[in-house]
Amino acid sequence: MNFICATCGVQFAPSVEAPPSCPICEDERQYVGWSGQRWTDLDELRRKHRNEVRDDLGLVGIGTEPAFAIGQRALLVQSLEGNVLWDCITVLDDATVAALRKLGGIRAIAISHPHYYSSMVEWSRAFDAPVFLHSADSRWVMRPDPCIEFWSGETRTLWDGMTLIRAGGHFEGGTVLHWPSGSDGRGALLSGDILMVAQDRRWVSFMYSFPNYLPLPAAEIDRVVAAVEPFEFDRIYGAWWDRNVASDAKAAAHRSAERYKRALLSTRSLDR
Ligand SMILES: [Zn+2]
Ligand SMILES: [Zn+2]
Repeated sequence: MNFICATCGVQFAPSVEAPPSCPICEDERQYVGWSGQRWTDLDELRRKHRNEVRDDLGLVGIGTEPAFAIGQRALLVQSLEGNVLWDCITVLDDATVAALRKLGGIRAIAISHPHYYSSMVEWSRAFDAPVFLHSADSRWVMRPDPCIEFWSGETRTLWDGMTLIRAGGHFEGGTVLHWPSGSDGRGALLSGDILMVAQDRRWVSFMYSFPNYLPLPAAEIDRVVAAVEPFEFDRIYGAWWDRNVASDAKAAAHRSAERYKRALLSTRSLDR
């Protein structure tokens, strides 16, 4: 059976016994659940959860109710030459497949980083769509499969002007999707938590570990911002429902990077 880690939601390659541990949760960017490593599987999840498919600031969002594991929602970018599923979630059921087929299905799946690898192989099979992952994070794939297409380098062009950008930061292969027709043609970035939309939705943040509060070095912040600099975008879609910077997002990314580096490098309180 394909065990699924209950804390990060990542599905593993088939095995008779549960895997000894979840490397993604044992990594210092994540954590093992407080009552120890727990496993589940898709059948159990389908009995206890369903997916909500609804608008999220002009994109179709897909999220699980009640929330499971990290709780991210995926986004469907509908495009002339084929739809992209941005990031992925663990729960996949017939109702979700039917709903997304009605919206044109999925031509390809692209995922920002290993915390959202979820049950990507199941999604790939259901929609006959390849999964694009940055090769720098290949060792975090827990269910290897021919559907996974690793790409390397700094960008990978998709279609209709869409581009996958390797921004790094949170993960070595940390990826964002640039969608030029987003935000009424002003451009949008789908960022997962590589550029993490802050709770006030006017700023973003950058972390090595969010749950364990580990910041990134200033040079790594510069790298993330430089990677997206050549692209025009007015909006950033974050990783959870409604966690988006609705407008002026490029300026928000710049001022967020400056503020963050000021906090890192300052020797005095910022509260003055
Ligand atoms: Zn895990
Ligand atoms: Zn993450």
